Amino acid sequence: MLSMASSMEDRLPPETCFRLPKTVIPHLYHLRMKVDLENFTFHGQEIVEIDVKQETKEIILNAVELKIISAKFKCIDGKARHQFVDANKIHLCEKSEVAIIQFSSTLNLGTGQLKLEFNGTLNNKVKGFYRSNYINAEGEERFVASTLFQPTNARRAFPCWDEPEFKAKFHITLIVPADKVALSNTNVISQQPFRENKDFKVVEYSITPLMSTYLLAFVVGDYDYVQDKTNNGVAVRVYTPVGKKKEGAFSLSVAMKALKFFEEYFKISYPLPKLDLISLPAFSVGAMENWGLITFLESYLHIIHRVTSTRGRQETALVVAHEISHQWFGNLVTMKWWTYLWLNEGFAMFMQFFCINELFANWNVWLKMITDIINPTLDFDALSNSHPLEVPVCHPSEIDEIFDPISYNKGASLLRMIHNYIGNEHFKEGLQLYLKKYSYSNTVSKDLWKAFEEVSQQPIENIMTKWTKQKGFPLITVSSRQEGSNRIVILSQKKFTANGKLDEEDKKAFWLIPVTIRIQIPSGNDDKRILLSDETTEVILTDVSINQLVIVNPERFGFYRVNYECRLLNQLKIAIREKSLKPSDRLCIQNDVFALVKAGKVSTVKLLEMLEAFVDEENFSVWNSISVCANELYYLLSSTDCVELFLAYARNLFSRIHSKLGWDHRANESNILTLTLVIESLILLRDPLVLEEALTRYEALSNRVTMISDEITALIYDAAISNGYVNLFRTLFNDEIPIQDSYNIISRLVLNPIAHEPLWHFFQDNFHQFKNRFENLPLMSRVVRIVCYYFASEQKANEVEAFFSNNPIVGVELGLKQAIEGIRLKGDWLKRDLAAIKSFLLNRSTSR
Ligand SMILES: [Zn+2]
Repeated sequence: MLSMASSMEDRLPPETCFRLPKTVIPHLYHLRMKVDLENFTFHGQEIVEIDVKQETKEIILNAVELKIISAKFKCIDGKARHQFVDANKIHLCEKSEVAIIQFSSTLNLGTGQLKLEFNGTLNNKVKGFYRSNYINAEGEERFVASTLFQPTNARRAFPCWDEPEFKAKFHITLIVPADKVALSNTNVISQQPFRENKDFKVVEYSITPLMSTYLLAFVVGDYDYVQDKTNNGVAVRVYTPVGKKKEGAFSLSVAMKALKFFEEYFKISYPLPKLDLISLPAFSVGAMENWGLITFLESYLHIIHRVTSTRGRQETALVVAHEISHQWFGNLVTMKWWTYLWLNEGFAMFMQFFCINELFANWNVWLKMITDIINPTLDFDALSNSHPLEVPVCHPSEIDEIFDPISYNKGASLLRMIHNYIGNEHFKEGLQLYLKKYSYSNTVSKDLWKAFEEVSQQPIENIMTKWTKQKGFPLITVSSRQEGSNRIVILSQKKFTANGKLDEEDKKAFWLIPVTIRIQIPSGNDDKRILLSDETTEVILTDVSINQLVIVNPERFGFYRVNYECRLLNQLKIAIREKSLKPSDRLCIQNDVFALVKAGKVSTVKLLEMLEAFVDEENFSVWNSISVCANELYYLLSSTDCVELFLAYARNLFSRIHSKLGWDHRANESNILTLTLVIESLILLRDPLVLEEALTRYEALSNRVTMISDEITALIYDAAISNGYVNLFRTLFNDEIPIQDSYNIISRLVLNPIAHEPLWHFFQDNFHQFKNRFENLPLMSRVVRIVCYYFASEQKANEVEAFFSNNPIVGVELGLKQAIEGIRLKGDWLKRDLAAIKSFLLNRSTSR
């Protein structure tokens, strides 16, 4: 029965990539899973209603790390009564992650049933069907069994056609310990004691709509919940560990509002009877949009009154909106294959900001999107080791690796560009058309462009294909001349690269670019929209004087950078100082200059001079952008002899805003954010007075004398670790700390350059432990980046390269190349500009 047929191994492709044939198609899975939380195992029984499309003697589906005990087939043709026939061979190919089930005779065409029985282990690898532990309020260890199937891990829980295009319905039954909460995608339709063992119960769920396997979910554990109900009767619940249900209240209110918002925006009712949001003790991603049962890492779902920071509440609201938007975009309409992952993720990323901007207008989250999402992605996508948005992938490790800033953030940025280009009404109508047309099926990028094209009558497919199939983005160079009362603006495009160089391929790159030109007029702004479809074009702005400000790509509507000629830039610099530009423009002009500096197109001294125009700045996001820039300069200079001069210069930038805001909270939320950021920056820049105050407050906190909010606590923590708490590295391997949290501690720690060398050594010395702890997790790619990202020399790049060529890690190849490219770029930058930076800083220090 379970014999291994070696001949079969030869028939599979030698590489580990394998796509399922479409000879047999599943329609409905009846899946019954018994979960044992004491021995960490599960036992499954499955009857799949299938359609045999072509004559075959075998059924091929995905399965990995499962033991298939039996497999039978029964033909159902409506006439005769057929019996189940046993398979005569079941071959599991671990490399291709498939099971080949062979029968002695050809299967009848048409409908049939495949019956399988299998065993599996609740692993501790945070994928497939896995276990995680936590300590409850009584100090006892508890376990949760939960799933993370995206992208290719449903096959670790049950044999299935585990590709997004094989949509089917699921009829789930879970047999679980009687005292546990057991959830799946749909609502419970029956619950009764398990006949064979009264300590267990049998929970049956209603049949799901047609859906992809990666969106299925189960959670078994001890939970409380808070709930509400929408006007359409959908029950919305937030599940939290027992005793913590108050912490779910904020997320519940956001979920209710977001659900209503999307139902109205998409004009399609939420298709399931219930929506649960639940927190998990261990999770390798922030959250997962399983249809009707969204799973979260606890810190992304729980809001603790008076403790969680404003930034924390914003993050939670954004993540909740992100996952809820997926219920339509991704779940109802799904990408055909992982090549189009960006369709799902880029969309949800754009929609999270769109929705939260509507729900919490005073947060101004578009600015947050610019600083946290768009600007860093422009840096990333300028690397020669970036990749196009649509990327051919096949093997699971390749698929894992494209859950990266390109798929999420570039995707979102492009959708924002299109939204601005065709306007909200057309964008909304296009989405409604697309979602209606492709409900319960699968799509490729073109299908979305066609929908936008149909409603807007604009050549969206032509425009967007250039952006999705090419990696990188353009740099628009802007110059102008005055002709009487008209201003002539000359725009030209070239590819922007991180090192400033263009190879033959780069020189050929060309985009159709939606460009907005904003002219400042006495009553506000006048926006002109054009499509830049040539290499160079002249735009005539009638009745615009030489003194009027002209901004290209205001509010970063388009995904590209702008290089202004000197005269225009000087004009803008004055406007920055006077704050007559919008915050988004103040920060984007600065960010573009910074990128041009790194690419060697503008000298670092010009940037340092420009930063001084911001001393009276008050906006949080602008400060955020400046602090990112200051940090990078600090890391760059940290191993040079002018680091102290730089620190003094940078502290000076922040000094005026710090004396204005001080240490204590005002009622205004944006004040709190800025205050926190400024203190954070000054701690990092080792300002002696701020460090001293922070440590005093830290001691007060340790003695619990004063109540200090979470925001300040985190900062004080930073001050403490920068004084030598390097053994925090060890938390990476502490099994009792959720993997995501221990990663977060390290990512905070490395903000301080003191930690860079020790962390790199610690990583090399403990390489195998790192590999074990983060094996196969998307986190591994981030760990690799974080241990070497900050270096800035050719010698370090070679050292990192040599280490990883002797110690390769499967699945992080691209991430590693990007990191090494980054180290080399910084090395070149330092070589190019160090002398000039030093003389500038010396000059400033004597004039201060
Ligand atoms: Zn997502």
